[in-house]
Amino acid sequence: MEAGLDGGWDSVRGLLGGKGANLAEMTRLGIPVPPGFTVTTRACLSYLDGDGRLPDGLWSQVLHALHAIEDRLDKRFGDPAAPLLVSCRSGAKFSMPGMMDTVLNLGLNDETAKGLVALTGDEHFVFDSYRRLIQMFGTVVLGLRDELFENVLSDARHVRGVTSDADLSADELRTVVARFRDLAAGFPTDPAEQLRMAIEAVFSSWNGRRAVDYRNAAGIAHDLGTAVNIQAMVFGNLGEHSATGVCMTRSGATGLPGLEGDFLVNAQGEDVVSGTRATRPIEALAQVMPTAYAELQAMAAKLEARYHEMQDIEFTVEDGRLWLLQTRDGKRTAQAAVRIAVDLANEGLIGRADAVRRVTPSQVDFFLHPQLAVAARQQAADEGRLIATGLNVSPGAAVGVAAFDPDVAQRLAGDGRQVILVRPETKPDDVHGMLAAEGILTTRGGRTSHAALVARQFGKPAVVGVGALEVDLVGHRATMGELVIEEGDWLSLDGSTGEVYAGRLDTFVPDISDGWLATLLGWADDLRTLGVRANADYPADARRARDYGAEGIGLCRTEHMFFQSERLPVMQRMIMSDSVTERRDALAELEPLQRDDFLGLFRAMDGLPVIIRLVDPPLHEFLPTFEELSKRITDAKIRLSAAGSLDEVDDLLGRLRRDEDLLRQVRALHESNPMLGLRGVRLAIRHPEILQMQARAIFAAACDAAEEGGGPRPEVMIPLTSDAGELIRARQVIDSEAAAVFADRGITVDYLVGTMVETPRAALTADKLAEHADFFSVGSNDLTQTTYALSRDDAETSFLIDYLRTGVYDHDPFSSLDPDGVGLLIDRAIAAARTREDDFEVGVCGEHGGDPASIAWCHAHGLTYVSCSPFRVPVARLAAAQAAL
Ligand code: PEP
Ligand code: MG
Repeated sequence: MEAGLDGGWDSVRGLLGGKGANLAEMTRLGIPVPPGFTVTTRACLSYLDGDGRLPDGLWSQVLHALHAIEDRLDKRFGDPAAPLLVSCRSGAKFSMPGMMDTVLNLGLNDETAKGLVALTGDEHFVFDSYRRLIQMFGTVVLGLRDELFENVLSDARHVRGVTSDADLSADELRTVVARFRDLAAGFPTDPAEQLRMAIEAVFSSWNGRRAVDYRNAAGIAHDLGTAVNIQAMVFGNLGEHSATGVCMTRSGATGLPGLEGDFLVNAQGEDVVSGTRATRPIEALAQVMPTAYAELQAMAAKLEARYHEMQDIEFTVEDGRLWLLQTRDGKRTAQAAVRIAVDLANEGLIGRADAVRRVTPSQVDFFLHPQLAVAARQQAADEGRLIATGLNVSPGAAVGVAAFDPDVAQRLAGDGRQVILVRPETKPDDVHGMLAAEGILTTRGGRTSHAALVARQFGKPAVVGVGALEVDLVGHRATMGELVIEEGDWLSLDGSTGEVYAGRLDTFVPDISDGWLATLLGWADDLRTLGVRANADYPADARRARDYGAEGIGLCRTEHMFFQSERLPVMQRMIMSDSVTERRDALAELEPLQRDDFLGLFRAMDGLPVIIRLVDPPLHEFLPTFEELSKRITDAKIRLSAAGSLDEVDDLLGRLRRDEDLLRQVRALHESNPMLGLRGVRLAIRHPEILQMQARAIFAAACDAAEEGGGPRPEVMIPLTSDAGELIRARQVIDSEAAAVFADRGITVDYLVGTMVETPRAALTADKLAEHADFFSVGSNDLTQTTYALSRDDAETSFLIDYLRTGVYDHDPFSSLDPDGVGLLIDRAIAAARTREDDFEVGVCGEHGGDPASIAWCHAHGLTYVSCSPFRVPVARLAAAQAAL
């Protein structure tokens, strides 16, 4: 089992697969691994490319390696006097749990079985192993349905009156073997033939549907192939001193240090992972087999020290002797990933930068996913809607309608429904339904079951092993006593506690201000050079953003403050006014409200920069639409003709007049291309009184904050500039309002005036803009829209979808910054700014500010900061640090 490869661990794994490479490495470390050898991925690829025959020379190499095992163990493959049995397992470069095939106990036939009985004196063990071989060979190699075999077993259990296969007698197992042999007519009695066919089946399973589906979902390349590991069998089903199990060196759910897993006495590995027998927690092994347990702990520590990573180990105890069958990096939840990275760094196994590198932005994002609201949970419990508790294998809340079939789950999700996939247990064939679902619920299986592993990997909340629930797959319903859950009924589950509720519970987003994530993000902050600010419009958002680590506000869209219901009528009055005096009156009403808002932002971001952008959208956006008004007017006229009282007539006439005025204004403000029309800085120049009001509110609030002893840092931002002349004009108004407010208040607050760069012309003439701006902020949403001449409001629901599907575009430029076109313009703006001043502030405040790939680009191109929604701030902190590593 020598790797014997140059080119590093990655190339070893590429050739031997993850499992093969790790087995070779464990052997090298002196860890007890049953002897074996690995057939490479290269052989697999050559088999798959060829005409369905093993590549030349492979078979003789296999036999040669097999003889080496025979010599080491003093057993012979197919020799009844000293039979060697081997396993044949798949093992690709990247772990694909359960997606490809495995056959155990190869080498058994009627003669070797007899020989093994003579040697071990354990007929039960031998025929149990033999029936497993035929069952696995039958399904995996011969393509027979597993139900055929399961039916024979369940008949046998029924006749005997037992629930577990382990309780069948040796004679009964012998009968089962005979019936299996009838079912699997193509089962070869020649052990060499068994092995050859098993190797070919494992090769072929690389292209099986579930493996292909899994690779598509996990983003694994299809041209890697699988290696095949042939290993001497060791037996966990050799009696009460034998056992088999799987464990992680730390909890895959929470990251808690210490072994976590399941085992079974007198069983083989598949019994543990299939969930068909009730497993015992790994701690219990300490009582049952203390020596093996202590050894397992020591091996776990050794493996972690070698791989610097949490390991997922398969082991077997054969007659008191511990064997490790496999080790690999353990799958984990987002919470566990963060805690493990931090703990490993604190334990000195990895550096802090490694810890930061290991956690993905989407794992950080998971922390910001909803959890069940405490009050909703309590109320549901009080109402008796907590229907069951199972194993909490993948945290987070999931709320959706029950679907009992993966295809149904996929269809409902495709219709935009939230779905909970409910199954007795999941199999690799169910993966498409699991991916479509919000959460997964099973009635069988444990922490290492397929459902648990897959759910964790894809960040799907999951509860498994809810034994009290009975699923009727034919009737598409589940029952528990009186309770019946039909397909389409709402369910809520909490993958952190294992609770399952009937109905649709409210959810909330968790606090991340302390604990492991805070530590990790603290390390990320030490490593990154790119600033992270938040797009926040209200004080509450600003406070949350600061809690999440924002270093200021990169964008406050002031128009959002005008959309609040009590302010909208005043705003509309302002828009409708015929004279400047009338407009000023309406603005005077809005001014104290804006001032309060700004004061709230300065308080929340005390000492940090707060970029307040002047009102940006076209004014018609504050008015009802033409269609809505026309309908209102028609309705009012109909009701007027049937009005019963004078009061009613008065009231309707008043409304009618107001709506007709609004309609006139909507018509007057109509533009064919409103996004290229009277908006942004153009609005400020056309209606300077709006700009004056906003500027006064900003500076008055800044003075209020300063008088309270705070350190407000206002940065006033002008939107949609495309010419330096606009900037000069708007800046004059802002500066003179600032001077007036400061003179009036008798204090001065430092402030900046800058502009957004969100039109190509702004970027191209950035040298001229920089003469009049203290900072730039790239409005990458509009800059993408204007650079591509692609409507940001419509594109993502129209042809852009086809562009992406058919590969015309390789990515959505509104999600991830276009480096070739938009990026070039940003580069130009940065260069112009930095020519003026080395540390001229240039940020990005469009949606791209929260996208890891765009953040990496921003880091590489020298932006000062990115600004994103408060919920993306932690993700941006991590992504910015990873970009710097
Ligand atoms: C932008 O255009 O990128 C931007 C941040 O402004 P808004 O999205 O408000 O137009
Ligand atoms: Mg914009």
